[in-house]
Amino acid sequence: MSNVQVAVVTGSNKGIGLAIVRALCKQFHGDVYLTSRDPSRGQAAVAQLQQEGLHPLFHQLDIDDLQSIRALRDFLKEKYGGLDVLVNNAGIAFKVHDTTPFAVQAEVTLKTNFFGTRNVCTELLPLMKPYGRVVNVSSMVSSSALGGCSQELQQKFRSDTITEDELVQLMTKFVEDTKKSVHEKEGWPNTAYGVSKIGVTVLSRIQARLLNEQRKGEHILLNACCPGWVRTDMAGPKATKSPDEGAETPVYLALLPSSADAPHGQFVSNKTVKPW
Ligand code: NAP
Repeated sequence: MSNVQVAVVTGSNKGIGLAIVRALCKQFHGDVYLTSRDPSRGQAAVAQLQQEGLHPLFHQLDIDDLQSIRALRDFLKEKYGGLDVLVNNAGIAFKVHDTTPFAVQAEVTLKTNFFGTRNVCTELLPLMKPYGRVVNVSSMVSSSALGGCSQELQQKFRSDTITEDELVQLMTKFVEDTKKSVHEKEGWPNTAYGVSKIGVTVLSRIQARLLNEQRKGEHILLNACCPGWVRTDMAGPKATKSPDEGAETPVYLALLPSSADAPHGQFVSNKTVKPW
């Protein structure tokens, strides 16, 4: 088993994820895994970084596929005995003018952004080593979508005692409510992406609390963040930040020094803790 430290970035064959891998290759003392659901897109991205003189490693990972997540988990356990840095970056968003029915957009978006990310956490968080760092890439849209929720839902999503099961029930209810076209009546905002990212931010708050309760003394720090508005296939060419600039906050959180005990369980944007 290798004593080398190891970092994994989900959805890193392009966009912000690729830029996070680039930065980690330069700054992280250990092996950095670029992962992609499609091996050929992943290998092409590895080759691109190799041309820049960097040496990421590759592992397949589709966060919608539990078998794929578990194969990565077993590989990390066997080769490294755990994991030091996990960046949950993989995500999807329908374009604003996409005509796919809203209920389908809700199901598909929540499947990857919330349920897929949660499955990665369920399988990989137990592997985190002391002083491990976990970064869940959410979005400022989670904050604005929270503001668009009913008071009752806002109270639940801001609660310091909400459980992961309760959060899963709420995310499932959103998808079901869209199918019945009652989501707005039920207090949800009209954004599937926004609700999926509420899920990611609240999940991060819950997971940080569980780390405090169950793994106190291991100094693991876990946060959600927004990368900013970044020029990628998702956000388009008019966005204000380059992918490398978008990687800055996630990488800052991924590389918090071992002396740091904060931020933890926070929502961070521009390297600053934002109110939730
Ligand atoms: P992007 O260019 O569309 O890249 C998304 C990445 O996620 C791609 O590598 C994609 O792989 C991967 N992915 C999607 N579904 C996956 C799955 N099931 N399993 C594994 N990988 C999967 O988007 P981006 O702008 O870099 O976004 C990265 C993250 O930042 C997302 O979580 C996004 O919500 C968040 N974010 C972005 C912005 C922005 O302005 N760009 C703002 C706020 C938050 P494929 O190539 O195979 O599709």
